[in-house]
Amino acid sequence: MKSSKSRLGRNVHRLFFAALTISLSISALYAQPASTATQSPEDRVSLYQALLDLQNPWTVMCVAAHPDDEDGTSLIVMRRKYGAHTVSLFSTFGEGGQNAIGPELYEELGAIRARETMAAAEIQGSEPHFLGLKDFGYSKTRDEAFKFWGHEEGLRRMVLEIRRLRPDVIITNHSVTNNDHGQHQATALMVVEAFDAAADPNKFPEQLKDGVTTWQVQRLFVRVRGNQAASDSTSIVTIDPNEKDPVRGVGYAEEALRALQQHATQGPWPKTFAEYANRFRAFSGQPGGATGQLPMIRYALVREAKGSAPLSAKESHSFLDGLRLPDAEAALVVAPQIGGKPLTDYVDKPATVLAELSVSSVETSRQHGTAIANQPRALAMRNRMFRAMGAASGIIVSISPKGVLVPGTVTDITITVSNNGTLTTQVGRLDLEGKPIAAETGFQSLSAGEKRTFIAHYNTPVNAQLSVPHAEHLYDGGEFGSRLKAVAVFSIVHDSHQFVVPSETNVDIARPIELASVSTSPIVTTPANDGKCGFHPVDFKLRVSNNQNDAISGALRLFLTTGPITGRGSSTRKVELRAREKTDALFTLDGCQLSKSQGGVTFILENQTKTWPALLVPIVVTNAKVATDLRVAYIRGFDFSLPNALNALGVESKEVSVDEIRTSDLSKFTSVIVDNRVYESKPELIAANQKLLDYAQAGGNLIVFYHKSDEWNPDPRRNRPQLAPYKLLLSNERVTDENAPITFIEPDHPLLNVPNKMGQDDFKDWIQERGLYYPREWDPQFHALVQSNDPGEAPLKGGLLVADYGRGHYIYTSMVWYRELRGGVPGAYRMLANMISYGRK
Ligand SMILES: [Zn+2]
Repeated sequence: MKSSKSRLGRNVHRLFFAALTISLSISALYAQPASTATQSPEDRVSLYQALLDLQNPWTVMCVAAHPDDEDGTSLIVMRRKYGAHTVSLFSTFGEGGQNAIGPELYEELGAIRARETMAAAEIQGSEPHFLGLKDFGYSKTRDEAFKFWGHEEGLRRMVLEIRRLRPDVIITNHSVTNNDHGQHQATALMVVEAFDAAADPNKFPEQLKDGVTTWQVQRLFVRVRGNQAASDSTSIVTIDPNEKDPVRGVGYAEEALRALQQHATQGPWPKTFAEYANRFRAFSGQPGGATGQLPMIRYALVREAKGSAPLSAKESHSFLDGLRLPDAEAALVVAPQIGGKPLTDYVDKPATVLAELSVSSVETSRQHGTAIANQPRALAMRNRMFRAMGAASGIIVSISPKGVLVPGTVTDITITVSNNGTLTTQVGRLDLEGKPIAAETGFQSLSAGEKRTFIAHYNTPVNAQLSVPHAEHLYDGGEFGSRLKAVAVFSIVHDSHQFVVPSETNVDIARPIELASVSTSPIVTTPANDGKCGFHPVDFKLRVSNNQNDAISGALRLFLTTGPITGRGSSTRKVELRAREKTDALFTLDGCQLSKSQGGVTFILENQTKTWPALLVPIVVTNAKVATDLRVAYIRGFDFSLPNALNALGVESKEVSVDEIRTSDLSKFTSVIVDNRVYESKPELIAANQKLLDYAQAGGNLIVFYHKSDEWNPDPRRNRPQLAPYKLLLSNERVTDENAPITFIEPDHPLLNVPNKMGQDDFKDWIQERGLYYPREWDPQFHALVQSNDPGEAPLKGGLLVADYGRGHYIYTSMVWYRELRGGVPGAYRMLANMISYGRK
């Protein structure tokens, strides 16, 4: 998404002025027959928005640390009520978070969240941009965030985006005085600093080229939380989220909820507006009027440019209130009118609107053409004029590539041009990426209701930036693929007024052949007691995708880092794939072939003429021992870290559903594990929980992984009792430093000693954090075994709790074992082995 807009702007602009040299005649178009066909409601809304956009030359930017931190309601109000151009700017892709719907984490999660953010922005009518700073997980301080990001580097990126996107007003939910997520605090500080730095030619002067100039933001607003009082001298802007959008007939905040729901990996979100309003009230502690209503959104003005127009009232309802453009600039962006009325008044007369827009664009080009070309704001408004003409004409251009593009090859791209309007139009030209595609086909006119389809043979440049796999290209600018642009120039029959209809789409760029590991990386194995090979065999799956237009055949081969795998049939697979086909190949690496010295497995696809890029999957060998004859049942969470780890331990295991928990005999299992956040993702487990407790009481070993406090603590409104056999209440406390020292409170406890004696080495090389939502209160029946804390904080002792219950046992652990298991941290395998072996010989 980055800067694609301005790129389009320049191209369309050049094309438009070129077109004008052909024809400059102006005549009254009002004689055109008025629209007779009825517009679809969607077309009417799009036209209304496009016409409203012509009336507002300002840009409002919302800065946020992570996807879902943006203030969607205010963005929607500024665009839909006032027609402002709205952009959102995110410090990170949110890749350090948890995934509420699938197994992806880290860069893979970031790639998903980037797309969720685009879907949310689509509803908000805003344009998302990212600084691409790394989300390394929760942090408590600003300094920790800057340690990862680099304070100067973060500021440099934010200043560059402000200079490119030129917001007049910036709003943010993050405040320098709030004591929340360290990445929020760091983002809040960078916004304040960037406000001044973007306008300062001595700051990051190397950015000031290729059309990037210094930029003075006029106003910076920070969200006022809850009932927090603003000082008497502070100017406040109040946005009413309960207001209805008169054109769409839906509340602005209802649409904001719909946008929030797009951030599915961060869910679950309220399903109804009433639920949303109630949750919001409970969360903000703000009363907020009638039931089913949201409290007012309030922002305080915290920075103003020198000489900026003051807000006209102490309490305004728009961030743009009172802003004025210099006269010379204002003359370039005058909104067209008919009889002194805005064009939005004529939304039901698209032909009349189109005529006025055609006349007006020619007129302003003649008067101010050169000035507009040199003025980014005027140029942006000119592009909105083209979009309005497209909406008024009812002509839609769409681009559909067939699959991904491969550098250096030709791909067929379908361009569809349809006329949903009422006027027959003549076609001036139709281009894809500047190359004419309609000339040779005799495409000359498009009558009302007509639809034409063209195939363009698009040659993807050899040096095109790859975007697949998305996770691999999250930080290199390839995260959204390439932007493809089609531009059509039309004129109305019997008249020579031309109008331009642009269309853009993102398309992925991939290597000709893609090799990917479907199983989680790395491959982990543990010592086997079978007396032959020493290690458990490991299954893993590999995916081969042929992105080309030609079939391929070859052999998929496996090598250990130390050399070829010999004497085993499983090391080679024949692969035959048709054009754009993919296949999965399953391999079993025998335990006899694994040893510590063999650092990884390499895959190669080759045939007589070619070798395709290799993929390396590391092997981790851990000496975790387990008790004999274990049978483990587990209710799986969002990812596969638990089943993969149980396989690596060589343990017999079975995934069970909540139904099976309810109906089957659990006593055949030596342990039952409730994976991360399952009481939230499978809430029906709450009603079946007594069965789990009975199982433990009768001699079973029940292990529960971390949950969030609001998913766990007893809550009568959600029919949720105490889930543990004894009192166990969670807090929101975390240990975010993955190297925070671990102290054993009961070093002799069997859970820390049998069969694996846990030591400090087992907590080395941890990933992201120690644990989250630590218990704050527990019954004395529980033994707390380890404690840990972030620097300068009091120790948290509830990370690993164990209690006897009847003839069995209950273990609750808020440490992030799943991250460590999937990352191949050997100590995590040893601790899991102790948990499932607990109480056994
Ligand atoms: Zn956040």
